Amino acid sequence: TTLYVPRDSAALAVGADEVAAAIERETAARGLSVRLVRNGSRGMLWLETLVEVQTSRGRVGYGPVAPEDVPALFEAGWLQGGAHALALGVVDELPWLQRQQRLTFARVGLTDPLSLADYEAHGGLLGLRRALAMPATEVVQQVTDSGLRGRGGAAFPAGIKWKTVAAAAASHKYVVCNADEGDSGTFSDRMVMEGDPFVLVEGMTIAGISTGATRGYIYVRSEYPFAVRTLREAVDIARTAGILGPDVLGSGRAFDIEVRMAAGAYVCGEETALLESLEGKRGIVRAKPPIPALSGLFGQPTVINNVITFASVPIILARGAAFYRDYGVGRSHGTLPIQIAGNVRRGGLVELAFGVTLRELLVDWAGGTVSGRPVKAVQVGGPLGAYVPESKWDVPLDYEAYAAMGAVVGHGGIVVHDDTADLSRLARYAMEFCAIESCGKCTPCRIGSTRGVEVIDRITARAGTAKAEQVELLRDLCDTMLAGSLCAMGGMTPYPVLSALDHYPEDFGLQPADAA
Ligand code: SF4
Repeated sequence: TTLYVPRDSAALAVGADEVAAAIERETAARGLSVRLVRNGSRGMLWLETLVEVQTSRGRVGYGPVAPEDVPALFEAGWLQGGAHALALGVVDELPWLQRQQRLTFARVGLTDPLSLADYEAHGGLLGLRRALAMPATEVVQQVTDSGLRGRGGAAFPAGIKWKTVAAAAASHKYVVCNADEGDSGTFSDRMVMEGDPFVLVEGMTIAGISTGATRGYIYVRSEYPFAVRTLREAVDIARTAGILGPDVLGSGRAFDIEVRMAAGAYVCGEETALLESLEGKRGIVRAKPPIPALSGLFGQPTVINNVITFASVPIILARGAAFYRDYGVGRSHGTLPIQIAGNVRRGGLVELAFGVTLRELLVDWAGGTVSGRPVKAVQVGGPLGAYVPESKWDVPLDYEAYAAMGAVVGHGGIVVHDDTADLSRLARYAMEFCAIESCGKCTPCRIGSTRGVEVIDRITARAGTAKAEQVELLRDLCDTMLAGSLCAMGGMTPYPVLSALDHYPEDFGLQPADAA
C-alpha cells in the first residue's frame, strides 16, 4: 500500500513530518509494510495534513490528520480506504479539485516531486522534447501565440521578452527565474518549487534553448529553505539524467541551472534589483532602459520571468499554443493559480482560467470567513494591491478589467478581511511597509512613504477642516508616488492607501464626501 504525506511547507507547518513519523511507528508496531511518498500539497490547506491512501477506488484522503489520529485511522482500516470521521473520499473527485483547470499545477500534490519517472509518467518532458524538435524561433512563436503573460505581476507578454533576447547578439545570455515570492498571502511559486520542481527546470530549459542562453539562475527568497533544498536536488537529478548540462537530452545544446538563495529584501522581487543582488551587489533598482532583455545579468541579454510563467511553458509546448490560449478572457489568456488567504474558511490554491470573479472565489471557493463575520475588504495582488470593495466583486479577474478599476491582479494573491478590519490601519501599514522595504533610490518612495505614515496618523487624529487638509495632502502625496517612483514599490503603494480611503472613508473618521 502506498500512502502520501505532503512535504510542502504549509503541511510541515501543521505537523506533516510528525504525522509521517507516527505512520512509520504504527506500521512497524503492526508489522505492516507500506510505501510512504512525500508528495506536494493539493492546495486544500485547511485539510493539511492531508494523507492519501492508494486504494482500488483511487487515492482516498484523510484530513486534517494529527499524529494522535494515526492509531485510530489504522484501526478504522484506512489502508483499505475505511470509514473514519476524517475520511474525505477519493481526493481527485473532491469538488475543490474537480472544478479547477489545473494546467500549471497538473502534477502538484499528485506526484513524488523528486521522482523523474513520476514526472515523465504524468506528462513531464513532453514540452522540452517537442521544443528540441522544432526551430528555436518556432518555440518562441508558440510562447507568443499562447498569450502567456508574466505571472509575477507585471503581465508583460513572455514571448515578446523571449524574442528580444533571442534576437540580441551576445557572447553570453542568461535565463533568470524570479522566485522571490515576497507578496503577503502568496504561495503559488513555493508550491511549484516544493511540489513539482522539474516543471520549472523544464520551463527554464525551454527558455534557454530557444533564446540561446546557456545558463540559468533561480533566485529564491531565503524564507523558503525547503524550496531551495528541493530545487537543488531536482537540478542535480536533472543534470545526472542529461536534461541539464552540455548536451540537453542529446540535442547538442547546452543549458544548466544554479539555485541562489536571496537575503530577505522585498524589493529584490523587482527584476532589476534582483539582477543586482544576483551579481553580488546590494539590491537596488536599476533605471530602465536598458531593459534586462538587452542588458540584464552581468550586462548580457537576459530572460527574466517568474516561477509560474516558466512553469506554464512546458504545457504550452506539449499541447500547443492554441490549447493554452483558449482559456481565459480578453487579453488575459490561460490560467492563473489563485492563492486564497487571510480570514477564510477554506484557504489554498485554486488554478482557474482568467474571468472568474472575486465573489465566486469568496463564496464558492473560500466559503466565507473563518470568523463567520461578513467580508469587508479583499486585497488582491499582494501588499501593494488595492482593496476591492463588494461593489466590484463581480468584475472578472482579468488584467485589463482590474486595471480599469484601479486595481491589479498581480501575482494572484487574495487576502480577505472581515468587518472588524480597520482600513485606516491597513492603509497606514502599506505606507509603513514601503518605508521599511524601499531601496532608497528615488525620493517619492524613500521619503514619501515615511511622510505617508505621518499624514495618515494626522488624518485619524484630527477633526473638521484640519482633517480634510490632511486628506488632500495624502492624495497629493499618492499622486507624486504614483507618477514619480522609479519602480512598482513606490509606484503601487498608493493602491491600497487610496482604495482604503475611497471605499472605506468611515474608517478614517470621514463622511464619504470628505474623503474625495
Ligand atoms: Fe527604490 Fe522605492 Fe524608488 Fe523602487 S520606488 S526604486 S524601491 S526607492
